Amino acid sequence: MQTIGILGAGQLGRMMAVAGYPLALNFALYDTSGSPSANIGKIYSDPNNAQTELKQFLQEVDLVTYEFEHLPLDLANRIAKIKPLRPGVRALQVCQNRELEKRLFRELAIPTPAYAIVSSAEQLANAVEQLGTPVVAKSLTEGYDGKGQAVIKHIDHCRQAWQDIGHPQLIVEQFIHFRRELSLVAARGTDGSTCFYPLVENNHQGGILRFTIAPAPSLDAKLQSQAEAYMEALLADMDYVGVMTLELFETEDGLLANEMAPRVHNSGHWTLNGAHTCQFENHLRAILGLPLGDTAPHGVSAMVNLVGRHANVAGVLRLKDTHLHHYGKSERPGRKVGHININAENYTALIEKVKLSLQQVPESSTLQCSIAGIA
Ligand code: AMP
Repeated sequence: MQTIGILGAGQLGRMMAVAGYPLALNFALYDTSGSPSANIGKIYSDPNNAQTELKQFLQEVDLVTYEFEHLPLDLANRIAKIKPLRPGVRALQVCQNRELEKRLFRELAIPTPAYAIVSSAEQLANAVEQLGTPVVAKSLTEGYDGKGQAVIKHIDHCRQAWQDIGHPQLIVEQFIHFRRELSLVAARGTDGSTCFYPLVENNHQGGILRFTIAPAPSLDAKLQSQAEAYMEALLADMDYVGVMTLELFETEDGLLANEMAPRVHNSGHWTLNGAHTCQFENHLRAILGLPLGDTAPHGVSAMVNLVGRHANVAGVLRLKDTHLHHYGKSERPGRKVGHININAENYTALIEKVKLSLQQVPESSTLQCSIAGIA
């Protein structure tokens, strides 16, 4: 039996382990952040004994992967010298720094919003002058779920935004008036083989993903092949192994790359119930050098994130074609505590079912997507 080591013990590690048990895999998870929630496999989480815990974790596992890209690079380098680390250190390095990420997009001719890097409030004001308002200022590193970001609508707001973000370096991006947000989840195996899920439509509110509709409705087939070509270039350049996600803006002039994540992704959670092989299993297949699984969807799907509040469990379970994924986490504002996957044969039926499921979610987000009004 092989044991997979996962760095990070949140819901992504948990869902990965759930997907791996039918393949007779064992799991060990290392997370000394103080709040592991995976509650599965063997968890190494004592922050007072981090070094000993790491040593034991590495002795136990055959290979290591991660559910979180903001890992110290020296830790990743140390681990990679002892056990295979998949995806590798380069993917981590690029994806945890927005400048390196955008530079790679440019090198590979992947269109991205115009941007500047700034290290002071004065430089921020200069960048805003050059790019024109509005802009989105983001911390260069460590940002996720919209944290460490500000939309600046007027040049006079630069000093305040600089102070609010409180980071020594920012990336300032032209604000994109996108039609919608899309993402592509893909996997690449150890032999270089690749597979792609369909592009999905994502809705964020307050910087946090709220809804995914899969596949993205009314999608021009050219955009799928364009996105796959971008992904193929990124995966090959990084000699990547595992699942990767590319977040994109759909605009009138085509796709713009926003960012990428070197891991299974919230916008791929629909695959648990809506695709022949889910993203978690495909990630495991990829890192183990096994054949990649069929990514074709079953009908159409929606994913409703449970942010801050749990759903009424019995209420959701009574609904047809509706699946609850409860992460076992306590409620806290802005915290992802679970998600609901919904399947249907067509988009009208899907939206009807999404609306029924939202009745079971206290303080649910308002359904926003390109087809919200069809049912
Ligand atoms: P990020 O952390 O880069 O994924 O940003 C979080 C969310 O902020 C995105 O999903 C978008 O909804 C929004 N956003 C980020 N960058 C831009 C941009 N350049 N223009 C407009 N909206 C943006």
